[in-house]
Amino acid sequence: MTSSSTPTYFQTMSPAPSSTASASQPTAPQPSALPPSSETSHLPQCEKTTHDATFDSKVKPNRKPLLRLELRDLSDDGTRAFLRLLHATTALEDAVDAVLKQLYIGLKTHCIPPTRSITLVLRSMDGVAYTTGRDIDEDHKEIHLSTNYINHVPDSRKKEEIQGVIVHEMVHCWQHNALGTAPGGLIEGIADWVRLKAGFAPPHWKRSADGDWDAGYERTGFFLEWLEAAHGEEIVRKINDELRGCRYDSDEFWHKCCGKSVGHLWSEYRSSLGDGDSKQTDAKST
Ligand SMILES: [Zn+2]
Repeated sequence: MTSSSTPTYFQTMSPAPSSTASASQPTAPQPSALPPSSETSHLPQCEKTTHDATFDSKVKPNRKPLLRLELRDLSDDGTRAFLRLLHATTALEDAVDAVLKQLYIGLKTHCIPPTRSITLVLRSMDGVAYTTGRDIDEDHKEIHLSTNYINHVPDSRKKEEIQGVIVHEMVHCWQHNALGTAPGGLIEGIADWVRLKAGFAPPHWKRSADGDWDAGYERTGFFLEWLEAAHGEEIVRKINDELRGCRYDSDEFWHKCCGKSVGHLWSEYRSSLGDGDSKQTDAKST
């Protein structure tokens, strides 16, 4: 994997990928298994009274999560770089704060998943990173970050790239997923939207409306950024909250959130970019 290639993440809540996962085939998100689409037509009605008029600028979950760090090999150059460049406590606490701020500011505490602990595991593996729940309890999360990948990132970008990957994976520790029925591309897009908002967009990211809206990662992340401008800055928080406790139905979901189909919205986004032209983003512009 070259330093300029798009980082790859594994879908949260999935079991840890096998050791056969290869950096040479890292392009597709790996969403959780979804139920047959016919099941999504019977949606429970969710009553959601979420706004909290008394919120302050720092979002606090019901329970402060336990943050842990596991270093599998202190002699690994990726581990050395991590320890040289970052203060682990600050990096994890800042990532939690950034995610909770972007996804839950103004919402009531019960809207926030009851995540109890997050363990960052640095180890040698293929790919970039993935997030998973513990078998015994999904409220305990593990973020696995590849020391091989850290070694591949140029020194000039290493610190910001590590921070950006941690923020992306931290989103998976706190976001809703429509009981596992949300499109994997939407889940990954929300994760990269938070990374974008936190100021850690890598320089190679670009806005593009080629392909489908749910291609995921920065493609969907920039679409969500555009939705903010078109439908208000609360829109991604609303989207995430609408994924709480309800099964996903595309027509109902997007009409409820934005009053239009997602296909219509994607067409509007494409027009805003100039019929498919890509635009380079400035990593600091967010
Ligand atoms: Zn991801």
